[in-house]
Amino acid sequence: MGKQNGSCWWCVKAVKWIPVIFILTIVAWSYYAYVVQLCYYTIDSYVQKAFYLLFFHILILMFLWSYWQTVYTNLMPVPDKFKIPDVEMEKLQQAETEETQRQILERFAQDLPVTNRTIKGAMRFCEKCQLIKPDRAHHCSVCGTCVLKMDHHCPWGELDGMGRFHLLFLFFVALMFAVSLNSLFFYHCYLVVHNRSTLEAFRTPMFRTGKDKDGFSLGKYNNFQEVFGDNPRLWFLPIFSSLGRFTRIVEI
Ligand SMILES: [Zn+2]
Ligand SMILES: [Zn+2]
Repeated sequence: MGKQNGSCWWCVKAVKWIPVIFILTIVAWSYYAYVVQLCYYTIDSYVQKAFYLLFFHILILMFLWSYWQTVYTNLMPVPDKFKIPDVEMEKLQQAETEETQRQILERFAQDLPVTNRTIKGAMRFCEKCQLIKPDRAHHCSVCGTCVLKMDHHCPWGELDGMGRFHLLFLFFVALMFAVSLNSLFFYHCYLVVHNRSTLEAFRTPMFRTGKDKDGFSLGKYNNFQEVFGDNPRLWFLPIFSSLGRFTRIVEI
C-alpha cells in the first residue's frame, strides 16, 4: 500500500484493531478486578489468596499466549503452483462462454491435487487472487486473500473503585465469556474430530464424486492429530504442531 491511499489504509487497519483492543481492555480490567478487588481486598486467608492468584496467573498467561498467537500468526500463503499465470488469465478473461472458461481452468489444474468442485461441478477459482482454490481454501474478504483450510474470520483476534460493583461485574463478564467461549469450544471440538471447518459444516463440500460431508475425515483420532499433532505434551500449548497439510488430505 503506497502513500496515495495511505490515510484510508490506516483507517481500515485501525478499525480492524478495535475488537482486539476491546478484548485487551476487558482482560486488563478483569485482571484488576480479580487481583486487586477480589484477592487483595476481599479474601482474608493467605492460603486462599495464594491459591487464587496462582490459579488465575496460570490461566491468564495461557490465555495471553494463545491470544498473541491467534492475532500474530501469519496466514500460510497458497503455494505458487496454484497461481494462474498472466497468459492463462488473459485467455480466461477473453473466453466467451462459461464452458470455455471451465475448460481453461480444468486444463490448467489437471496436475494439481484438487478434489473440491463448485456446486456446478466446476474447478474452484478465485478471481481476486487469480488462483485455483486448493481444497478447503476460501477467499476471506476481510483479509483480502485466499486462506487455506479456512474456518471463519475472527474479528476478535485473527481478536471500575466500587469494590462490590467490580466483583459483580467481573462475575457477569466471566459468565458471558464462559457461555460464549464454551459453546464455541464444544462446537469446535466436534468440528475437529469430524475434520470439518465451520464453512464446511454449513455448506457440505463438493467433490468430483458429489457432495460428502465427511470427505476429509480420517477417523476421529487421526482428525484430532491432524490439528493438534502427535505429541501429547504440545496439545495444550499454542505451538504449531499440526500434521495437517493439504497435500496429505487430497492423497486419499
Ligand atoms: Zn482469493
Ligand atoms: Zn480473514
